Amino acid sequence: MFPMTTQDIKMNQTLASKQAAIVALSRWLEQDGYVKAGYEAGMLEREAQAATYLGQGIAIPHGTRECRHLVQKTGIKALHVPEGIDWDDGEKAYLILGIAASSGEHLALLRQLARVLSRDDLAETVRKAQHGEDIFNLLHEYPVSPLLAWHSDAIYIQQPAATMDELLHAAARRLQASAQELEQLQNNILHLGQGWWLSESVTTDIPRAAVLTTTGFEYRGQPVRALLALKARGRDHKKLLVQLADWLVTGKAAELTTLNNAQALQQALSRGPRPSGEPTSNQCLVTVRNHQGLHARPGALLVQAAKAFDADILVRNLDGDGHDVNAKSLMKLISLGVRPGHRLLFTATGPDSGAALARLQAVINEGLGELVAPLVPIAAASHPEPVGLLKGASASPGIAIGPLYVEAPVHFDYADVACDAVAEQRRFEQALQLADCHLADAAARAQGQAQEILGMHRELLKDPGLTENVLQRVRQGVSAPAAWWAAIDSAATRQASSDNSTLAERAADIRDIGRQVMAILCNTALPDTPEAPYIWVAEDIGPSDIVNMDTAKVLGLVTAGGGVSSHSAILARALDIPALVAMGGKVMALKTGTCAILNGDTGTLHVDPGEAVLSRALEVQLRERELAWQAWEQRMQPAITTDGYRLEVGANLGDAGQAAEAMAGGAEGVGLLRTEFAFMGHSQLPAIQQQIEEYQHVFSALGGRPLVARTLDAGGDKPLSYWLRPKEDNPFLGVRGIRLCMQQPELLETQLRALLAAAGDQPLRIMFPMVADWSEWRFGKEMFDRIQADIQAPDVQLGMMVEVPSAALNARQFAREADFFSIGTNDLTQYTLAADRGNGELAALSDGLHPAVLRLIAMTVEAAHAEGKWVGVCGELGADPQALPVLLGLGIDEVSVSPKRIPLVKARVRELSLAKCKQLAGRALEASCAGAVRILAGEKQ
Ligand code: PEP
Ligand code: MG
Repeated sequence: MFPMTTQDIKMNQTLASKQAAIVALSRWLEQDGYVKAGYEAGMLEREAQAATYLGQGIAIPHGTRECRHLVQKTGIKALHVPEGIDWDDGEKAYLILGIAASSGEHLALLRQLARVLSRDDLAETVRKAQHGEDIFNLLHEYPVSPLLAWHSDAIYIQQPAATMDELLHAAARRLQASAQELEQLQNNILHLGQGWWLSESVTTDIPRAAVLTTTGFEYRGQPVRALLALKARGRDHKKLLVQLADWLVTGKAAELTTLNNAQALQQALSRGPRPSGEPTSNQCLVTVRNHQGLHARPGALLVQAAKAFDADILVRNLDGDGHDVNAKSLMKLISLGVRPGHRLLFTATGPDSGAALARLQAVINEGLGELVAPLVPIAAASHPEPVGLLKGASASPGIAIGPLYVEAPVHFDYADVACDAVAEQRRFEQALQLADCHLADAAARAQGQAQEILGMHRELLKDPGLTENVLQRVRQGVSAPAAWWAAIDSAATRQASSDNSTLAERAADIRDIGRQVMAILCNTALPDTPEAPYIWVAEDIGPSDIVNMDTAKVLGLVTAGGGVSSHSAILARALDIPALVAMGGKVMALKTGTCAILNGDTGTLHVDPGEAVLSRALEVQLRERELAWQAWEQRMQPAITTDGYRLEVGANLGDAGQAAEAMAGGAEGVGLLRTEFAFMGHSQLPAIQQQIEEYQHVFSALGGRPLVARTLDAGGDKPLSYWLRPKEDNPFLGVRGIRLCMQQPELLETQLRALLAAAGDQPLRIMFPMVADWSEWRFGKEMFDRIQADIQAPDVQLGMMVEVPSAALNARQFAREADFFSIGTNDLTQYTLAADRGNGELAALSDGLHPAVLRLIAMTVEAAHAEGKWVGVCGELGADPQALPVLLGLGIDEVSVSPKRIPLVKARVRELSLAKCKQLAGRALEASCAGAVRILAGEKQ
């Protein structure tokens, strides 16, 4: 129902212009706390873009999308203007509804309005209204019941019945008919033809319809194949009969009764007998791609385009309730409930019908004044089947060879509206509970990061903001799945548009949760995977898909979207499954069963390779497996080159709990503890004692090996939920790492105290992240000196990350004071090449083997060694088998990589000669690009 009372209606107003009306409404909305200042400008702007005249004397001014953040609560204020105001092109508005609503609610309100306003005498009735109550009652007239649409849950296939009486009793139960209504049903039976029967009762209660198909018997000498039973009120059921009549007229109604599932029958009935997607010569079929479907503004532009032609133009939403409406009426158009991806079938008759259809198709495809994304962003149909070598971003190394399994996106079928909000709320709550049980089960089976992510999903499921958003929609008559999907969609869209790439990639988590609940609500099974092992190709693979997948069957992962730092990519690496992301929509056009080679080392997918390529890849894969096995056997041995140079190999940890596993995998210490993850894992700043315990946990697993702890690298792309900061345009260039700690020195002070206190006499190396300037280093060092003077931990060094080009360029100065450097090649590469590290499209450019990055590494090593200090590399480049000889040649002393890569890195070092690596490094520094360095590095060292 409308969020208004009679207090929200001002009767008998006189206003000079539509602008005056809009200003009056926006001020009223602001005064009553519905919107903040500035909404007025948004309303006027919307009006300037396209008039908000809905039809039948009603106008619905509202704000632009950009100003919806000014909406504080949903509401409507109404002005009744009996003299009328010229609103649009000679159309007079007598009732002006000023709307304050956020995005999803806005569309729902419009649809509701369109339903309520479908009476023909409306303009006149509005104009003549005397009291606010009259308007209120008009707006709240019982809309056509959603139960009088073809709903699959009111369709009963093959109802066991041998007589008409049995069938009518079954129908009465479905309709929740009273004894009196049953009697009416029995008395009002009509054979419509082709085995279809109609039975009607009249009700003052909620109208309902039910369709029952039968196994077939005869009644009054005619076949009984299906019964349409109605509890009707007024003319509400007319549309159903018209649609059924369409089938009868074409002689195809009998065919319908052979359909053996309710959804198929529902879709066929809604669509009408004309084959969907097969427009005739006076028809055209267009898919709407607007982000929010066909709401008022794009709708108005479509109506404008249609009105430019003399032809009569009808439009039908093939994915809605399937009836034709006049394309020149905005109100009718909105009543179609067109959502993104819905197909509109236009039928034009008249002299200029051809030109009209062409124009309508063009304006829709152009986006009706909005920026439109591709239909299904990654629609298979829009791509020819790709062949050969496809390039993407490598999210997890290794080679997988096998048949592809291309997972088609799942489509959920559901009604938009529901008339029993209480039942709908119950349905929603039960679905949430069930989804939570599934997640809890999966979490019980999972470990480590997978378990954490599932925990995060469970939290998301319980998010009160999300739930309240859904319930609010449900209370307004929206069905549970429609409400849930709208809430999920807007939350995920908001998340995806975050400037912060880490947060943006969490959109996949939201959609993932969304899909799981939708599957329950719509009783739709998520797709079955093949029996034999396969390479899984999907638009995006959610973290829960990964933790639930059968790792024995999934050889590799390929996603059209995604980024290398998404949760899915992190999990793929943790599970050691080769993975490629950001491949683009073309991969969705690949065929399931096609053989492919996924190379996570080179970031390529070779589709349908020839015999020769395949056998070479099999050889490489076999060799990689052998090497991995040998490497694992040798993992506890040091990494010494053939000419006797020893490289320290440490582990990169984000989670203190992984320390023991890393040591068992051959790590010689922790080369990078990303302490910010521990801070991000808490709901508030962890107290000093909590921090001490966490660090002690790592020390006890290390058994005397060194711990390199990086101080808090929060902010920017890794925000702390309990420390809100203003939004930054460029978070990677914003207040992060040491810069953030300078704003909150007590944070760093507590952390340094905790680290030094936890260390006891264990070797502790502390380093500051993101140091770009001398003052930042001095700030950290002075604080450290003061605390260390107090605690006097016996084996401590203080160093810094070199991950900003200025730090490398000024390394000589820093090396005088710092005890060591650790080069963060992930950030150093992104800042040197100005290429966002999370952007899959820039994967080829963001290569740490670029000579410019190597030059900065060389400067850093040279400066450190000149002062007798050591240098490590803790960025991803250290784990790259091609980069390792170059880094060795540049003189690094230590490398720190993810725990799974340690045995392989050590094994690789043992194959190399330092002398040859130095020659290679010299040539690499002179190379023109990263590709050239890779060619050099590919030659045997
Ligand atoms: C780096 O930038 O290379 C690094 C190791 O730090 P992080 O990836 O945590 O930013
Ligand atoms: Mg970094």
